[in-house]
Amino acid sequence: MAVAEEEEVIIVGAGQSGIAVAACLSLRGVRSLVLERDDCVGSLWRKRTYDRLHLHLAKQYSALPHAPHAEEAPTYLPRDEFARYLDGYAARFAVRTRLRREVRSAGFDAGKGRWEVEAVDLATGRRELYAARFLVVASGENDERFVPEVPGLEAFPGTVVHAAEYRSGEGLRGKAVLVVGCGNSGMEIAYDLAAAGAVTSISVRSELHLVTREIWNVAMSLYGYHVPAWIIDKLVLLMCAVVFGGDTARHGLRRPAVGPFTMKLTTPAYPVIDVGTYSKIRTGEIRVLPAGVKSVRGNVVEFADGRRHPFDAIVLATGYRSTVRRWLRSDDGLIGDDGMAARPYPEHWKGGNGLYCAGLVRRGIYGSYSDAELIAGDISELLRPQQTHSNGSNK
Ligand SMILES: Cc1cc2nc3c(=O)[nH]c(=O)nc-3n(C[C@H](O)[C@H](O)[C@H](O)COP(=O)(O)OP(=O)(O)OC[C@H]3O[C@@H](n4cnc5c(N)ncnc54)[C@H](O)[C@@H]3O)c2cc1C
Repeated sequence: MAVAEEEEVIIVGAGQSGIAVAACLSLRGVRSLVLERDDCVGSLWRKRTYDRLHLHLAKQYSALPHAPHAEEAPTYLPRDEFARYLDGYAARFAVRTRLRREVRSAGFDAGKGRWEVEAVDLATGRRELYAARFLVVASGENDERFVPEVPGLEAFPGTVVHAAEYRSGEGLRGKAVLVVGCGNSGMEIAYDLAAAGAVTSISVRSELHLVTREIWNVAMSLYGYHVPAWIIDKLVLLMCAVVFGGDTARHGLRRPAVGPFTMKLTTPAYPVIDVGTYSKIRTGEIRVLPAGVKSVRGNVVEFADGRRHPFDAIVLATGYRSTVRRWLRSDDGLIGDDGMAARPYPEHWKGGNGLYCAGLVRRGIYGSYSDAELIAGDISELLRPQQTHSNGSNK
């Protein structure tokens, strides 16, 4: 198959991470091409999130490089507004995208000193081959829905949706709905369902740190001033005790022994930002079932603690996984077996032979920002002698 295009840089994925890298490269005079499976940029926010979603962090922590949010923008951007921001961002920095291109394979050809990337045009089914000196993996930590194996789930007579498909509680008033998973999505979806009149239960298997977005903003600001994590932890827990009125474990939400900020810095887990779920738990509008789901028989769900409850619908807020390992042929240690960056932040972003990854250390929009600057800075530095030479200005 003939090479469709020779590029300086190929970026896989037009989420916030991919377009931020492209924009930062463009500002440094480096041409790149973004290959994206979907038909738009920022498809996660448009197609795989629920209607009531607002960004959890304040707008100053939720912008991409060289484009702070407008003064008049709300502090916590609604999902659709953030999606529009991404459109505007891609247009403003003339990000070159090729949409509906699914990358199926990418490997480094040592003889030619370049990456060869095979993609399929999903509109026509035609295979295309691209070549580039640099390859940036920005295909996301949330590419594929993770659904746990639960015996009997496939025969559940009601509706079963993953959080990525859940939009709102419309049509569920009066129905008994179980949310499985107590991360940010699960807790917010439980709130949304209860607000829509569903008889809502949430299965909470693991420990979690519940914070408010205001408390978390204080934590982020303190971190910006280099306050040690253990001090931030103590302050956050103190503020949480005031806001949530003491021990959340009384209502089935046990806190981990490790502090919330230390947890964020040292593990893949993230605190849960409360959007009002906790007060609905306290009033009994949302029932906490403190165990994982063991099996399903008919419409009855059996939990790990032996209890059984009937439901009309189930929402699986059970997470996602990266799919990089399926198409990237490289064993230079940049990407781990789970498709995420193998090395921890801030050593995570650069591999061998011009390979990079952006957005794969679970640092959200803030992480996309810093990865983009690091990657673009490095690539433009590596190209500098060549650019100077081809401009003739080093003569
Ligand atoms: C419900 C939800 C709420 C969140 N809220 C926040 C928040 O408030 N604040 C925050 O900072 N973070 C939040 N996050 C986390 C984080 O910001 C997202 O994970 C973010 O989308 C990561 O951006 P990305 O560009 O790295 O990946 P993605 O947005 O997932 O983009 C990757 C793109 O790559 C494409 N792709 C994948 N594989 C291929 C392939 N083989 N070929 C071509 N294209 C491919 C995908 O179609 C996708 O468009 C949230 C995440 C979720 C799921």
